[in-house]
Amino acid sequence: MLEDAHHYFHKAADVLNLPDRLREILVTPTRVVKVNLVFDDDEGILQHYVGFRVQHNNARGPMKGGLRFHPSMDEDHAAALANLMTWKTAVVDVPFGGAKGGINCDPAEMSERELNTVTRRFIEQTKDVIGPTTDIPAPDVNTNAKVMGWIMDEYSKYAGFSPGVVTGKPLHLFGSEGRDEATGRGVMVVLDEALKDRGKLWPGIRVAVQGFGNVGANAARLIAEQGAKIVAVGDHMGGVSNADGLDIDSLNDWVKEHKTVKGFSGGEPFNSPDVITWDVDVLIPAALEGAINEDNVAQIKADIIVEGANAPTLPSAHEALVQRGVLVVPDILANAGGVTVSYFEWVQNIQQFRWQKNRVDQELTDIMRRAYAAVKEVAVQHSTDLRTAAFVLAIRRVSEAAMARKYVEEDIKL
Ligand code: NAD
Repeated sequence: MLEDAHHYFHKAADVLNLPDRLREILVTPTRVVKVNLVFDDDEGILQHYVGFRVQHNNARGPMKGGLRFHPSMDEDHAAALANLMTWKTAVVDVPFGGAKGGINCDPAEMSERELNTVTRRFIEQTKDVIGPTTDIPAPDVNTNAKVMGWIMDEYSKYAGFSPGVVTGKPLHLFGSEGRDEATGRGVMVVLDEALKDRGKLWPGIRVAVQGFGNVGANAARLIAEQGAKIVAVGDHMGGVSNADGLDIDSLNDWVKEHKTVKGFSGGEPFNSPDVITWDVDVLIPAALEGAINEDNVAQIKADIIVEGANAPTLPSAHEALVQRGVLVVPDILANAGGVTVSYFEWVQNIQQFRWQKNRVDQELTDIMRRAYAAVKEVAVQHSTDLRTAAFVLAIRRVSEAAMARKYVEEDIKL
């Protein structure tokens, strides 16, 4: 996975003629942390999980990135995703660097007490390298506001009252209005820009969404509110389709109870992987990495793809899509709404001043539209695709900060 992140980095670095020394500095993580989490489960059996935190780059500010609980979590995943966070925070121009981490556990198999214990062990062992001005975790796959609240509580035991150590917290525990839906809202805003680029209007647009968790469900709801139809949704258990458009509020209620879209009576069932090749105008991958690959890229029918997930498209599939003229809005732009409102949450925590939801939504919308326009401008300037352009913009911003701080000796004109 890290190799794929580096592929996109080097493609953009070539556009900038970035010297090798600077490339080396920019791809190398600042710190890699691995901790062993050993505890008794509810049956008194000793369990052993491994936690990771990769702190990639802090040239533009404290490092920022999610915490993922998933059996596939390892150092390679953490490093690749930390890398992407550095470029993502730069694309939306929030004053953060990049980090990512997680634990190789499966919350579906754990009780709440076990999850709480493993989360607190992780913080106990990483407390010296995270903090409101060093590295600020946030939710990611299988982690949510409740887990973020535990993190704030555990860290504050050591450092004193520290709401700014983590974002995505519950509203009643120093969270921000609008954070839970922020990534989905950002996806909807960049899709609005992409539709304008293609000369299309919302009504009648058919959309397929892979993943119906935080990102997928919120994006689906907000997109349906614009007048588009969500015609297919797939998750880890199955898929459900409705040519007239799924009722997203009812689907949400179903998923809250059953933890999957499978079995929802408001549509027809289908095999989950088929969602990627559904006959639609817009595809939103919002689950895990590698969803769009050599095996399915030729069958993709959407002509706009908005990457709600991180790294959902493998490099070879991306090249094929670009050659076919598909408009791919890349992850480091498309799903940056989450880190943007995390930034607002951190600002509110530091100032101890709460923003109203309409302020959060408006400032998020402005930032996403500005970022889309900036990426598009670079794409036109260098006659390249939006992903390469987003990396070019980000690398330029991070390099300029690194040079200004003298992380790099030479002063290179980019
Ligand atoms: P989540 O845990 O809330 O939801 C994940 C969804 O993906 C679930 O619906 C699950 O069923 C589905 N899924 C898992 N494996 C699947 C498979 N093999 N096939 C189809 N569906 C599958 O996670 P989330 O927070 O919504 O994150 C989703 C993606 O978005 C991840 O790539 C994450 O890194 C990225 N992301 C999340 C945020 C955020 O704010 N939560 C921000 C930026 C990027």
